[in-house]
Parts: sequence; C-alpha cells; structure tokens
Amino acid sequence: MRKCLCATLLASILILATLAALPAAAARESESYSDSIIGQDREVLFQVSTIDALLLAVYDGILPVGELKERGDFGIGTFDRLEGEMIVVDGVCRQVKVDGKAYVVPDEATTPFATVTFFDHDEKVFVEKADNMTELGEILETSFPSENVFYAIRIDGTFPYVKTRSVPAQERPYPLLVDAVANQTVFEFENASGTVVGFWSPEFVDGINVPGYHLHFITEDRTAGGHILDLRVEGAEAELDLTPNIFMALPTAGDFFNLDLTGDLSSDLEKVEK
Ligand code: ZN
Repeated sequence: MRKCLCATLLASILILATLAALPAAAARESESYSDSIIGQDREVLFQVSTIDALLLAVYDGILPVGELKERGDFGIGTFDRLEGEMIVVDGVCRQVKVDGKAYVVPDEATTPFATVTFFDHDEKVFVEKADNMTELGEILETSFPSENVFYAIRIDGTFPYVKTRSVPAQERPYPLLVDAVANQTVFEFENASGTVVGFWSPEFVDGINVPGYHLHFITEDRTAGGHILDLRVEGAEAELDLTPNIFMALPTAGDFFNLDLTGDLSSDLEKVEK
C-alpha cells in the first residue's frame, strides 16, 4: 500500500511538472479545444435537416426561428414551404422574399433547412479585387489553415456587383428543388453596401450540406438581398470563423422520415446553387 501511494504521488508530481513545463500557447490551445467540444459553445455549426432532403422537396418547416437563434447569431437557410432566402446576421433573422425585400422574421416562423453558428472571427482577409465567385473563393482559400473544417464567412463592404435570387413559397405536391428554383427571381445590385453571410464546407459534407461556398447577401440598410449567384468584390475585408464542430437537427416526422437519401444528388445541387 505504502509503495502504491508513493508511486501515485510521484506520478502526480510528474504530471504537474509536465503541465508547468508546457508552453503557454500549447496550454491555451488545448483549453480552447476542450472548451469547444464540451457543452454549450460558440464554435458549433448548427444545421437543420440536410441539403439532400431539401433537394428532394422536404420543405415543411420543422424548427422555429426563435429556437434557431438560440444556436447562432449568424447564418443562412430557407423557410417553411421554401419561401425566400434566410439571412441571420448580428442575431437578427431576415427573409428575402420574391419581391426582393428583406423582412424581419417572427420567432414563430419555421425553417426546413438552415445553418447557423455564433460568429467570432479567427482570420481577416483583405480582398483587393475579385471579379467573380471563383476568384473570391480562391483568395479566401489561401488563408484556410485546413480544408477539413468549416468556415463561417462574413464580408462587410461596398460591392461593385451582386447577383442574387429568391424563390417563392411552394405548394403541395412539392416540386424537386431543381424545378422550384427554375421559377426563381433574380436581383442585381450595383455598388451596393452590405454584408455577405455564409459558409465554406469541406467536400466530405456532400449530401449533408453544400460542399464549398454557400453565401447570401443583405444590403447595409437590411432591406434587400438573397442567395448569391455571382458577385464582384473590391477592397473589402473578409472575416473567417473556423468552426470545427457540427450539430445536425434531423426531422423526426413528416416527408423526411421515409425519404430515400441513398442517391447522389450532386449534379442537382450544382444546378440549384448557380
Ligand atoms: Zn442559399
């Protein structure tokens, strides 16, 4: 027994000594990582349903916006019956309808698909000039420390050009998303001050969320916007929030429950996003 106690004490001292010898930065890193995976936290991508369910016409709202906002102050999505484009920024959720106008959404409104997080920037990237979505994407990616985690992306600025769309509410029997967006309304903004809000997701989320970029736009006065189809950026600062955790809230009833989600819908997704 005595020997055992000594061994324990020695082990404890060794551990303490090791901890004391750890560089401060390493200690901070491990603290922040354990913070990030335990309990209520700001570094979680919270998503409702899956992108493939949306592609397969699961449009009935399942989560009230009031509850969504408890999981993040920043994000994008759509609303019950696929009505309009969601932009959550600075804790306020707005809906860009097919009239092109942005409306503040009541907490009782519901969403069938959305992605939110609490936005705390980790990196800032100055974008001198990007003539389209591809160029912007390449510039931002140069500052990604990894392509295997999520990034929330926020860009405030005056944009030479932004092309967005919104989609009208759908009626049952619901059409597939690829057919629903055939009736999208497109909006063009020139020299528009506003905020780009969205995410970059790794390739491995294929079927669950949108691999690569999915960005929405809202004007600075928060009165118009939509899902971004194209844009030009000049002299704007992009903020990135590296997000290593994901929480999926899947529907527990309705169309989703018996849906066949085994197929590859990536070509449909390509058409829908662009
Ligand atoms: Zn969108």
